[in-house]
Amino acid sequence: MHLAAFHPFQLAALAGLSAIDKSPHFLNSIDDTLAAWSARRNLPRFRRQQLRHWLFKRRASDWAEMSDLPKSLRADLAGSLQLWTTQIVRHTHAADETEKLLLQLADGGQIECVLLRGRVRRTICISTQVGCGMGCVFCASGLDGVERNLTTGEIVEQILRLQLLLRREERLSHVVVMGMGEPLANLDALLPALAEAHRPDGLDISTRRITISTVGLPPAIDRLTRSNASYRLAISLHAPNDQLRNRLVPVNDKIGLDAILASADRYFDASGRRMTFEYVLLAGVNDSPQQAHQLTRLLAGREAMLNVIPYNQVAGLPYQTPSHASQIQFRKILETGGLRVRFRHRKGDQIDAACGQLRRAQQPIVELG
Ligand code: SAH
Repeated sequence: MHLAAFHPFQLAALAGLSAIDKSPHFLNSIDDTLAAWSARRNLPRFRRQQLRHWLFKRRASDWAEMSDLPKSLRADLAGSLQLWTTQIVRHTHAADETEKLLLQLADGGQIECVLLRGRVRRTICISTQVGCGMGCVFCASGLDGVERNLTTGEIVEQILRLQLLLRREERLSHVVVMGMGEPLANLDALLPALAEAHRPDGLDISTRRITISTVGLPPAIDRLTRSNASYRLAISLHAPNDQLRNRLVPVNDKIGLDAILASADRYFDASGRRMTFEYVLLAGVNDSPQQAHQLTRLLAGREAMLNVIPYNQVAGLPYQTPSHASQIQFRKILETGGLRVRFRHRKGDQIDAACGQLRRAQQPIVELG
């Protein structure tokens, strides 16, 4: 999103930022910030552990709540370290208990993040960029392009704000990086944020339960492989051949399925994780029996799980969700061909929980040409 595209209320928020606190964003680099801060005050090491404990385990929402820290220390923290940089612009609840936050960043940009509740799972879906530069033609997040990468602090902030929505007896079990943006275009900020989700003194979520979803950027996938990260990786495929994929996922033009699958194979070999592919099903575009057969051939021989996501319609875009009958037909061909398939249960669609939809609903409708 370019500055000219800012909605008037965003500009107003920008104008109001002159008083913004210049103190460092604590969540950007928790250990380093705490080390420097406590060294200047000669604080014992256990104070740092106490702070982390309050934040990640006891779900404190403010320094003031950290009741076993001396009052003077809490006042000092409040005066010198910024805990939150975002504001909650909207908080929506769906009947299925999905909750979604629309957050306004300090510079006026907006991002979305979601809490999904299953029977036992508590999954959060987080964003990595303001907007998205990949341009997938059916997706709401990329309609205005990418404005900027989020910082580590802004990613950790989504995780903690969503955790604060849980009831006392609930616990976060899964993280999916499937919100706005292309995570592999912002690995530098994302990896330290996910480390906080994984660390035992962070949220202590197993890397098996943390999934990064990508459009498929081979150099970044290779970087992830070299980093020995063992997060789950989901590749957004959406088409069984380059001709169609170039149309649906324009960045594919310069990459191609062969290169993506080769780098995905390397990641999955190194991480030992099962391969996951995502396929958004669009009526009359990528849901024909021939395409199902072609997809089966493309993925044959791989220990892969295919997540099929019936399209979540976006206002102003011409794509449609396929009928139930054609979804069943598509699924049958894949299963007969030996693929493991999961049709993703739709959650939160009454509250525009699909990528980028809520942010869009706040903005004036634009001409889509
Ligand atoms: N950029 C990353 C992650 C964000 S999108 C990626 O492309 O994977 C997460 C998933 O949601 C992607 O598979 C994306 O194609 C899909 N998606 C986007 N808009 C959608 C919509 N309206 N309905 C269903 N799935 C959608």
